[in-house]
Amino acid sequence: MDSFWIKIDDHYLNTVSPYMKMKVEKKIQSEPDRTHFVRMCPYCNNFYMLSMITESLITMGVNPKYCGICYESDPFYKIHYSLEKVRILHKLSVTNLSINENTTVEKVQRVLLEQCVVNLATGFEVFFRDIFAIGMNLKFVKNEHSLISKFYKESKNEFLNIGKMDRIFKEELNVDLKSLFNEEIYSELKIIMHKRHAIVHNNGLVDKKFLTQSGIECNLGKMIPISSEEIEKYLATAEAIVKIVKQMFDQLFFPYLKERIDTELYLLVR
Ligand SMILES: [Zn+2]
Repeated sequence: MDSFWIKIDDHYLNTVSPYMKMKVEKKIQSEPDRTHFVRMCPYCNNFYMLSMITESLITMGVNPKYCGICYESDPFYKIHYSLEKVRILHKLSVTNLSINENTTVEKVQRVLLEQCVVNLATGFEVFFRDIFAIGMNLKFVKNEHSLISKFYKESKNEFLNIGKMDRIFKEELNVDLKSLFNEEIYSELKIIMHKRHAIVHNNGLVDKKFLTQSGIECNLGKMIPISSEEIEKYLATAEAIVKIVKQMFDQLFFPYLKERIDTELYLLVR
């Protein structure tokens, strides 16, 4: 299950009023052999209840990771899928693939490593924009409304620049990303974004902007350095980032989501 499902169990029922607890228990009593979940989609704002036979669910490999109404995936699932793609590309880059005599093993490896960087950067951009837009929507917009597409549109292109992203999180959500991550994680994120920019906009060559802003020792007009070990390091850093952001999200924004779920569930069972 993704991060936006709540399982209706004793743990959850002990967080709501005794009246609501009684009403919910009465509703789910008719299907005692099933496990009940509720979800409020952070994107389309739809609320729904799902009753499942857990055993058969596991056997079938069903594990909902998206909204059953708008089909938008959870941001944590999206980033995990991006990292999985990077792992596949990285694995391919260490095999000795060559396509023809003009496309040497070295060239194939370089293209795959460049794509690892691009996928990492894009994955992070989408991840942080989703977290930002969902956080803003949960914290500042009334229960029955959603301004998520507005927050998402407003942050377009801004989150490819880590400095800008850091400032927006701080100013709008009072979240200090720089202090959440350590210095090393923060500067690795910056380097990934600088490298993506050079790959996408300048064929992976070091230009003046990259030379002065990336902080990496390199030569103007040469290819930006990317190594296989570096991608492995970024993947480990990426896992750490996702974990830290998940903790921050659960602590700061999940309570707003739970409040919405409680209200909707109350309206359903009263
Ligand atoms: Zn949805």
